[in-house]
Amino acid sequence: MPDARASRVFPRHTKASVPVAVRGEGCFIVDSDGKKYLDASGGAAVSCLGHSDPEVTQAIKDQLDRIAFAHTGFFTSEPAEALADRLIDRAPGDLSRVYFVSGGSEAVEAALKLARQYFLEIGQPQRRHIVARWQSYHGNTLGALSAGGNRWRREPFEPLLVSMSHVDPCYAYRYREPGESEEAYGIRAADALEAELQRLGPETVAAFVAEPVVGATLGAVTPAPGYFRRIREICDRHGVLLILDEVMCGMGRTGSLFACEQEGIAPDIACIAKGLGAGYQPIGAMLASQRIYDAIAAGSGFFQHGHTYLGHPAACAAGVAVFDKISGPAMLARVREMGGKLDAALRDRFGQHPNVGDIRGRGLFLGLELVEDRETKAPFDPAHGLAARIKKAAMARGLMCYPMSGTLDGRRGDHVLLAPPFIIDDTHVELIVDRLADAIGLALDSLEI
Ligand code: PLP
Repeated sequence: MPDARASRVFPRHTKASVPVAVRGEGCFIVDSDGKKYLDASGGAAVSCLGHSDPEVTQAIKDQLDRIAFAHTGFFTSEPAEALADRLIDRAPGDLSRVYFVSGGSEAVEAALKLARQYFLEIGQPQRRHIVARWQSYHGNTLGALSAGGNRWRREPFEPLLVSMSHVDPCYAYRYREPGESEEAYGIRAADALEAELQRLGPETVAAFVAEPVVGATLGAVTPAPGYFRRIREICDRHGVLLILDEVMCGMGRTGSLFACEQEGIAPDIACIAKGLGAGYQPIGAMLASQRIYDAIAAGSGFFQHGHTYLGHPAACAAGVAVFDKISGPAMLARVREMGGKLDAALRDRFGQHPNVGDIRGRGLFLGLELVEDRETKAPFDPAHGLAARIKKAAMARGLMCYPMSGTLDGRRGDHVLLAPPFIIDDTHVELIVDRLADAIGLALDSLEI
């Protein structure tokens, strides 16, 4: 059995010992000592079907028995076509073409390039600039990192490759003014994009990128009502493409197949990953509108992009099997129902907690924001590393959750993201809340304040 301390898998956890995962059992991961961890974060919002789904693994095996790999420079494959058909049948708006990749960063990278190429094809080469939002994460490759508004990730690599600027996110807990209605705040938050376009000159901007429900960086922050409708209007008025990053919040996680369905809008380009393969295979996808596809077909004729493993047949076979399980009305209703139960249990347990400032989210995509002072919303000093303490205490208690630390600019606190498998039941809900309460309690007790 490999010794975690001697792990040579670059670049993980060189300082700390991590358990060795050996087996999946439904909502649990079992390590080499036989200890079981309840996966309340789906890793990072990946494992929507838990860890031992026999039908998904069988579909992958069957595909491997037929053919494992056929390069897309020469062939398409049955599972790639089947998955594309399923996605397009259910995709919002006029999203009508799918570009398969191996994960979320690649999907975002492809989206940024497609937006740029679209404007080259239609004779507007000056539209190069991309606008995104602060406190966002869109992946770790240089293009996706340029889009991300996570300062600590960006700064070591600046200047980044893509011409980008950022506006504030729609984050009511921190940015809504006292007395301001949610709707009024949604409009004001969206108008930050209008102001940024005016500053830049809208004719220089190719696209705006945002997550419909913000995952890793803010902890399941839902948009204010009307925010995305206003964003859509602004993009349309100025001919700017709207790219929605549904890498985390898509594929049923919020209770609808695409998170943007609940905002009543459709993007020009959508990025999905994580739940698409549910962790059984690495796969992501970019979906593009017919208008974009037509412009490229009428112009140079091909999207100037590509990776060796585009549309990998085994990954697409996993995607088809996962899609058939998560996309039906019963499973989506289950996500909403169990999400409602988990939300209620969190409110019951943490609603009056002196250090829990906000409980938020949608479906099985929920978050808690931790603050030093509930009244002033003052975050903990990031030097305390509260999120890391919670993660350590949770793992010791056999719970996987996804804590993230606050920022130095004091504009958000530490948070814990929960994104459990869609197959959780009432017992799991109880376990999650109990173990999380223990972990947060232990972590807070360990702070020397
Ligand atoms: N976009 C969002 C919203 C994400 O949350 C992530 C990963 O957490 C990514 C993109 C990058 O995905 P990947 O880690 O698969 O490259």
